[in-house]
Amino acid sequence: MSSTTATAVNPATGEILHSFKHLTKTELTAKLEQAQLAQSGWQTNHISYRAGCMLQAAVELRERQQEWAELMTQEMGKPFKDAQAEVEKCAWACEYYAKNTANFLADETVITDASKSYVSFQPLGLVLAVMPWNYPFWQVFRFAAPALMAGNGGLLKHASNVPGCAAAIEEIFEKSGFPTGLFTNLQIPSGMVESVIRNPLVKAVTLTGSEPAGRSVAATAGDCLKKTVLELGGSDPYLVLADADLENAAEVCKTSRLLNAGQSCISAKRIIVVGEVYDAFMKIFHQKMAALKVGDPMEDATDIGPMARKDLRDELHEQVLRSIEAGAECLLGGKIPKGQGAYYPPTILTNVKKGMPAYSEELFGPVAAVIRAEDEDEAIHIANDTSFGLGGAVFTKNAERGEMIAKEKLNAGSCFVNGLVKSDPRLPFGGINHSGYGRELSHFGIREFVNIKTVWVR
Ligand code: NAP
Repeated sequence: MSSTTATAVNPATGEILHSFKHLTKTELTAKLEQAQLAQSGWQTNHISYRAGCMLQAAVELRERQQEWAELMTQEMGKPFKDAQAEVEKCAWACEYYAKNTANFLADETVITDASKSYVSFQPLGLVLAVMPWNYPFWQVFRFAAPALMAGNGGLLKHASNVPGCAAAIEEIFEKSGFPTGLFTNLQIPSGMVESVIRNPLVKAVTLTGSEPAGRSVAATAGDCLKKTVLELGGSDPYLVLADADLENAAEVCKTSRLLNAGQSCISAKRIIVVGEVYDAFMKIFHQKMAALKVGDPMEDATDIGPMARKDLRDELHEQVLRSIEAGAECLLGGKIPKGQGAYYPPTILTNVKKGMPAYSEELFGPVAAVIRAEDEDEAIHIANDTSFGLGGAVFTKNAERGEMIAKEKLNAGSCFVNGLVKSDPRLPFGGINHSGYGRELSHFGIREFVNIKTVWVR
């Protein structure tokens, strides 16, 4: 990859799709100034006007759903049917914030010694979003829909392997009536992110991505005293308790682990099964994992496409090999297939123990790490024995007990009972510890990038 272009490579075939030129410093400055101009006008528009544009963005998404989905599949390899669903979810987020922002950002009266005092929510200005490739539309829309509805401008630094998606999203906002530059695609390499954060026109930063990228962006933003939201990695535990519906638990664990070829921050990365049901669970889980079809992501019958890049696939394989060297057993998969493309098979590692990469590192691909626990207490202990804290799930027929474990025992931002951890515009999403801080989605998300302003009148 040249230092002056971002090149998209189809991970299913290795074919070069297209290259986009990186902005020069002068072009970058001009883009920031144009964005600032657009934002200063945008924030004076009534919320109902902003909502009209956001509803139009939902229309633009749906009208060209096939085109956007194909672009995602080509650039990062997710099955086409999943990419179509991703476009629909983006449209849902646009509609959700179009409908609810007036309520979420309404003034809140507080009775004090004033004749009138209240809290109002004002936009911050330009917000930089550094985004990953794994859900190349959804990650961006779940930032942009609330941020723009709150009156901010959005600056996108998307992952280098999805430059076409970045340009497409800019086009969608522009065609939907948002002022030119309000949502700007900054086609820059990650080395230029620091200069954007340091620019006085930029008021806040959000990053969805890896821990090292989060540390780097937060350090610069901290140095400039700018607000950050970080959505980082995860190693979500899925606990299968002795009284679980094993068929459901195995189905959900399989789906969660293999969705998007396992490249999801909230997939079931550590499956922790209590000894009493271990053998019975593994029998069903193994069958389900082995039955999936890996192949061309454009084909309807395909469950799992290639991983997004060959280097990521090779890194994952190296984690698998290191875990096996340390004593894990490979029950399924674990071998790089012959032929073209960044494919990796559904893989199951058992006998996973503390000290192995599969226990403590994030495995960002279709590899299930299964850990056996003596009992419920040990399962909970193992679940929390991680530096991450994004999501978690517990499986038990005693929903009340499951709820207690989800609410009081698991240390994570989202804990589900008998179901798959997922994002939903109506629910806050985010992590604790090394999974980051701050929240996206729901009314919590839209309040991350606003000035919560006190107004006091005698
Ligand atoms: P990544 O390598 O950290 O890249 C994410 C974004 O950060 C890309 O735009 C990348 O640009 C940029 N970047 C990388 N290093 C940077 C630096 N030092 N300074 C500034 N920007 C930098 O992550 P990824 O491989 O794309 O995504 C996988 C990770 O994201 C996983 O850990 C996953 O769990 C996490 N993730 C978290 C969530 C969540 O909601 N918590 C959601 C999705 C993914 P370039 O592409 O140009 O390098």
